[in-house]
Amino acid sequence: MIDQKTTNPKAPGPRIYHRAKGIREDGAVSALCFTSPRAINMKVATWTIRDEAVTCPRCLEIIGQSKRDPS
Ligand SMILES: [Zn+2]
Repeated sequence: MIDQKTTNPKAPGPRIYHRAKGIREDGAVSALCFTSPRAINMKVATWTIRDEAVTCPRCLEIIGQSKRDPS
């Protein structure tokens, strides 16, 4: 268990995991919840391709909607 008081204050906290939407030619990754393609700020967030590892609520909402069978 990590004690927040003893950890390095400069160390980033738990980062949000977005669901990766696409990877650009330069390696920048866009997230599912971004309305327009832009690179994820890797200082505060990161990305995953595993739905179960996603922690971004907006990405999760979109995943949930897309998994719903329209028929
Ligand atoms: Zn997201």
